Amino acid sequence: MLTFFPTPYPGEWWYSVLCRYHIRSGNEKFQSTVRELFHGRTYVSLGILFSNSTIPAIVSQLPAGLLCSERLVQEHTLFRYYTRCFSYARKRELLESVCLGEKVVITSIRKFADVKEWKPRFCPGCVSDDRQRYGEAYWHIGHQIDMMRICPAHRCWLYQAEDINTVHLDYQFVALESYLLREGPYVACGTGDIPPRMLDLAGVLYDYYAIPLEKSATPDYSNLAISLSNQGYGTITSNPRHTILNGKKVYQALRTMFGGDIVEGVYGDEKAIPLINRVCKWGMAVPERYALLQVLAGISSEVVFSKERLRDSLEESLLELRNSRTEVERAKVAAQLGITCSQLSNLCRKYGIEPFWRQRTVGKEERRDVAVNLHLNSQEYGLLQKAAQDHGESELAVYARKVLIAAISQSNEIANTDEDRVTKD
Ligand SMILES: [Zn+2]
Repeated sequence: MLTFFPTPYPGEWWYSVLCRYHIRSGNEKFQSTVRELFHGRTYVSLGILFSNSTIPAIVSQLPAGLLCSERLVQEHTLFRYYTRCFSYARKRELLESVCLGEKVVITSIRKFADVKEWKPRFCPGCVSDDRQRYGEAYWHIGHQIDMMRICPAHRCWLYQAEDINTVHLDYQFVALESYLLREGPYVACGTGDIPPRMLDLAGVLYDYYAIPLEKSATPDYSNLAISLSNQGYGTITSNPRHTILNGKKVYQALRTMFGGDIVEGVYGDEKAIPLINRVCKWGMAVPERYALLQVLAGISSEVVFSKERLRDSLEESLLELRNSRTEVERAKVAAQLGITCSQLSNLCRKYGIEPFWRQRTVGKEERRDVAVNLHLNSQEYGLLQKAAQDHGESELAVYARKVLIAAISQSNEIANTDEDRVTKD
């Protein structure tokens, strides 16, 4: 049993709690602390961001109810961040395994090419706040997310501990206060004003760690994909279920927004474009990929993980047209939606909407089953086509029929008026 153990501070990295234990223990050597905490073992992986067996190992040596493994894993490691886009059932399964001390391997922890370049980070604003509130500064888990360069609370650049070798963190206890006392060296992750899109990205990355575990993948739909589709990044196909995005267009938009380096770092080069469509079925595990798309879509994490499906704007317009009692032709409906007739058929199939234009024309009085063949030369055809376009009629035959009937009615009216005049005279 352990005779004492520090209470973790809000959002504190689990490694930081262990560092604070080391300082309070009075042990001179790191190894003595490791042996004390982990049943005589000389090596355990301490500096890990995802949870490992160190949490249940410590909890089992403390009086029952003092600390809870589940809570420690969720709030003091990046477990929630790395599993953010998994189904809730899968998350619970993994959480149980982690709390039992089992080794869990997940693919969402991306193997960054520059993983050795990763260094622990801190925010000067948080250091000052934490000292005021708790009497000491500590490493925040949210600042350790690989792509995080900005403190979402203070909206300032984070500082990076340049001289800390990430590998050494596994057997060394470097508490933030001790590190700050020896004055680094540390450097800011950026200089100058922070672009708004980077602030948005920091907010989204932090959400993925901080929001409740329940906020998970919604297997039947992706609000992120629907939102992007509503903003013009969608493609209409005969796929009856999922939203399909124009991967190339999305990739280019991401590059314009974040720059090539960030996009290539997260997705890879253009060969990775097909990956983007996996977002529609929650088929990507890596949270950063969702985060970039979310900033592009400009929607909140609340909406992305909502149990309520976003409405597809094309579906809404289609329903609106159906419910308005105006007479419409198929081509006109398609033109109003800015799509082709075959795309319109695909959409109707997808949303289970009966083709309402056909229903309108099968009524007894409106039944038109007599066809007239009209043979025109190219000049006449061109004239007719231009007139149809100018008058907003997208279907040529419909326009021709209208003109013909209008002309006949008009000549009848003139003839009737002349007859009246003759009778009066
Ligand atoms: Zn801060």
